[in-house]
Amino acid sequence: MIQYCKNCLFPSTKPELSFDENGICDACINAKKKENIDWGKRKEELKAILEKYKSKDGSNYDCIIPVSGGKDSHYQTYVIKEEFGLNPLLVSFHPFDFTELGRKNIENIKSLGVDCIEFSANPSIYRKMAKYGLVELGDNAWPEHIGIFTVPVQVAVAYKVPLLIWGENPQLEYGGPATVSSSPYLDKNWNEKHGGYFLDKIKPSDMTKYGIKKKDLLPFLYPSDESIHKVGVTGIFLGYYLKWDARRQVDIIKKVGFNLGDVPTEGTYTNYENLDTKHVAMHDYFKFIKYGFGRATDHASIDIRNNRLTRKEGLELVKKYEGKIPTRYMNDFLRDFEITLDEFYKICDKFTNKALFKTDENGHLIRDADGNIEKIAYDNE
Ligand SMILES: [Zn+2]
Repeated sequence: MIQYCKNCLFPSTKPELSFDENGICDACINAKKKENIDWGKRKEELKAILEKYKSKDGSNYDCIIPVSGGKDSHYQTYVIKEEFGLNPLLVSFHPFDFTELGRKNIENIKSLGVDCIEFSANPSIYRKMAKYGLVELGDNAWPEHIGIFTVPVQVAVAYKVPLLIWGENPQLEYGGPATVSSSPYLDKNWNEKHGGYFLDKIKPSDMTKYGIKKKDLLPFLYPSDESIHKVGVTGIFLGYYLKWDARRQVDIIKKVGFNLGDVPTEGTYTNYENLDTKHVAMHDYFKFIKYGFGRATDHASIDIRNNRLTRKEGLELVKKYEGKIPTRYMNDFLRDFEITLDEFYKICDKFTNKALFKTDENGHLIRDADGNIEKIAYDNE
């Protein structure tokens, strides 16, 4: 049985989440703690780090901001350039399923007055890796996660720009490797401890069965520790230094041209996130069948913590929007992954945690006319 947080809607199936004796989850406890943080002091700490790493004579970029084109990319770029006056180099790893809206938004970020490197991996290799992710890991966005986290570090090494600036990291209780004086590097050791970005899951030997050679995997191979230490590549999470509030930030970046979705993103009730790629809704659907929760739970839980929704209202939104097989780009999905609808269901079956969903007397998942499955319980009962 799933246990649900008594304050928000996070379930006990969420990886690495724990609950206190009152049934409140870590995320809620940390959100409460944020109310007592001296944000003025944190901002001063941020200023000191930016000052330390920026190019003193203007002969190089001051920092690197990995961007997708989404709301966080906009906010990071806006704050670093406008508020702190730095000259960042943006690095964008292109997903193969970029949407028109994603394209528009990345062009809009550039119009804030910044240089941007757009990196596209060989699409045939990328697709094969995405298929590997889908079939073997139940994660169609797997190569994207790796590319987003690897290519900006490769650029940092190549351009000798040591500081990477990310947005939020709710998992991390400190500002990033730049704040660790003993070993301030964004190297393999740090990633193994905190990154969780599957660096060791890329095994060229596994890829060979999909016809991929090691030489074709360069965008997905993390730079060596030696090259990282030589440049001193490190990073910080802005969410540690600036109080993160997605909805407030969306209001700010809308004023500088950020485009929202016309309708809510599939799988949730908001239109401010996951606009850049066609198949992100599928990624979220797989999260739903593996763990029993998806993006609507994430968003509602944030809105509950920020007192924008009651828990009851949040639960209603989750029931309405979450856990449906995405249909908007289904034809593209089947084509991009070269599978039939029948094969799609088989892959879903393989990754579904059957203890969380209704099954028939033979233990088979019960699907409605649209192929959707139903959770056994949505709340503590
Ligand atoms: Zn909670």
